Formats: sequence, structure tokens, C-alpha cells
Amino acid sequence: MITVKQARDIILGSIAALPQELVCLEDAIGRYLSTDIISNIDIPPWDNSAMDGYAVHCADIDDTGKQLKIAYELPAGTTPKGPFGKDQAVRIMTGAPVPPGTDAVIMREHTSEQDTYIIIDKLPKPHQHIRLKGEDIKNGDLVLRKGIRIGPAQIGILASLRRILVPCHQRPAVAILATGDEIADLDEELSQGKISSSNSYTLISLVKELGGIPIYLGVARDNREDLVEKLSQAKKADLILTSGGVSMGDYDIVKEVMSQGGNAMDFWKVEMKPGKPLAFGKISDIPAIGLPGNPVSTMTSFYQFARPAILKLMGANNLLLPAVSAKLVSEIKSTGDRPEYLRGLIEKNGPELTVTPAGPQGSGILSSLSRANCFILVSKGTTIVHKGKLIDCEIFEGTW
Ligand code: AMP
Ligand code: MG
Repeated sequence: MITVKQARDIILGSIAALPQELVCLEDAIGRYLSTDIISNIDIPPWDNSAMDGYAVHCADIDDTGKQLKIAYELPAGTTPKGPFGKDQAVRIMTGAPVPPGTDAVIMREHTSEQDTYIIIDKLPKPHQHIRLKGEDIKNGDLVLRKGIRIGPAQIGILASLRRILVPCHQRPAVAILATGDEIADLDEELSQGKISSSNSYTLISLVKELGGIPIYLGVARDNREDLVEKLSQAKKADLILTSGGVSMGDYDIVKEVMSQGGNAMDFWKVEMKPGKPLAFGKISDIPAIGLPGNPVSTMTSFYQFARPAILKLMGANNLLLPAVSAKLVSEIKSTGDRPEYLRGLIEKNGPELTVTPAGPQGSGILSSLSRANCFILVSKGTTIVHKGKLIDCEIFEGTW
């Protein structure tokens, strides 16, 4: 059986980032840059005051008590008017350009203000409270790298650079199909023997959370015709996700459909728990991940395989969940035959991160996953991890 890393590498090897499109700045949040962004301006554009106060020439001030004449006032958004003479000060506001000839700003609080002059209460240090031209970003700097996620700070930088259209990779369309004769969608009656299709809605929301566009194809019955018919509606998708129908049961026919009629299955089964029965291949030339049906297996396999695939389509550099190590609060036992992904709850306790399993770990128990914020990774061959040991964890986005 192949390992999680081998399986992920095979999936990622068959996927490339989608083409670029220009996106309005306000809509670029959560997208990934398709080119490096190089500044063509200095930020700040000129030396400017970091305080409300007085711009002075330090050499004029030999001691506290020195009087300086107020030459003029310089609000933010205006430019210095005229020359600056000896023993003069300019009343300056935060953000205004410092007048030529001045080399420090004294905070208003450190002066005594009279009608036409000020008295210096505290000696200034040369260059104090002056924000230098280009100290944040210099003309020609590579400010944002291709493949980074555009968050609020990046949006702010793009606005400073006046980029109203942002080059981003397109958002992937991700087809989602649940399968199972026992699975009822939300518009179907929950008759005897049926259960609700929770997977449809966890998958739709997981795709949305990453910035993908879900194309929901509903629930296919466990027969070839219905499966093929529903999958035929995935033609415009960049990735297909199915849930269920990939185990050993008589009606588990997703992998069969994935192997027939021009389709191709690259692998089936991955060495992990939960989530062993994972299938990957191409359906009508579209990469297709057959996720296992048990709700926790579906989500675990999504995080390990579908998430990196979607992020790669979106052009992201970082494809894996953020990893940390945390101190185990209670002992963990495992069979050791496969690497295990336990649902855990990481918390900050004083100076350290601690983690504890978030309840029962059966692959059908979604309620414990709803109380978790990470996977606890128990490696293959490990049968016990003692309380107090540091253990690797992967954090789910948006939960902590
Ligand atoms: P399967 O691999 O198709 O046998 O599915 C395994 C188990 O996962 C089934 O017995 C169901 O309990 C559960 N399951 C499958 N599909 C869904 C779904 N869409 N929503 C919730 N549970 C599901
Ligand atoms: Mg099934």
C-alpha cells in the first residue's frame, strides 16, 4: 500500500495551477498571486512626520528652554511652503512631508507653545520621529511573491501600489458527488434505512472555505448508470470529488467506474487510518479523488489529498496544513499498523501548546471532529504515546 506522501505526490503530479485572470482588488482576498509584484514607487513617497509636533533643525537647539519661532503650519496632505530659517520650527502634523532643512520632529507634548513661538522642553535626537522615504517599500523591491495567499495585509500593499486589478490564478471548479443507495439528500425524505448526506455539505463547505467553486452533483445511487450519468455533469470541473463507494462492498462501484471506458485509476488504498480506501484517477480526463464514505474518513482524506490539490490548482505555494508540535495531555494507544490521524483539540496552556484527543475516534463519529481543531499524527509502528510527550499535529484552518 502506498503512503500518504506517495499518494499526495501522485495526485499533485497530475495537477497544474490554473491560468491567470485579473481580479478587482476588493475581490482578491483569499486568492493566490500568479506573478511577483514589484513596486514602482517608494513607500512612504517622501520623508514624513511620525508625530504631531514641530519639525526642527537640531543644531539650532543647544539646550532645553530654547525658543524657536513658528515659521508656518504644515497639515497632512499639504507640501512645505517656502524656506526654513535658523531658530525656526514648523508646526507639523503626522504624515506631512518634513520641510527641507529640518532633521527631527519634536512631539507637541515636549514643547511649551506660545503665540508665535515654542519653548523646547526636551532635547531632540537627530532624525527622531521622521519616517524615511522608502523605509517600508523601495522602488524596485519584490514586495509580494507569486503563489502567496492574498490576505488583508497584501490587499493593503496592493492598494498602496495602486494595483486595482490583481493577477491571480483562476478559482477551480470542483465537482462533488455523494454516492450510496442509503444516502438521502436534504430534499429527499429520510425514509427507513436512509441517512442524510452530511458528506455533500462538508465537502461543499470545505471547497468554499479554500476559495474553490463547488459544483454539486447530488447523490448517485449505487449503480453504474446513475453514477456515469451524474459524473457526466462534471465536464466543466477542474477536479472531481466523490464520497463513498470505494471500499470492498458489493455496491462499491466508484473505483470500477474510474477504471473503465477511457477513465483511468492511478491508485486505490492508502496506508492511513482513517481513510484507507481512497481511489485516485481520471474521469473524462479530469483528476478525480474517490474519497471514502465514512464522514470522518471523507474529511480526513479531503484535508490530506483534496485540499492540497485544490490549493495547487489555485496556484498556492503552501499546500499542507500548518504543522506544530504539542504536549499530549492524555495517553494515546494505536494499533501501529498504519499511521493514524486522530481528531485532537490543541489549546494554549501557559507557555506551551497542549493537545488532547477530541472524543471517540470511530470514522463515523463526526461530532468529535466538530469539537476538534487538529489532527494528531501517530506514526506507523507506534502503539503507545505517553502523556507529556510532544506529538506532531496539523491544524485545521479557521478553527484556531
Ligand atoms: P461506503 O464506503 O459507500 O460503504 O460508505 C461508508 C459509510 O459512509 C456508509 O455506511 C455511510 O454510513 C457513510 N456515508 C457514505 N456516504 C455518505 C454521505 N454522503 N453522507 C454521510 N455518510 C455517508
Ligand atoms: Mg456506499
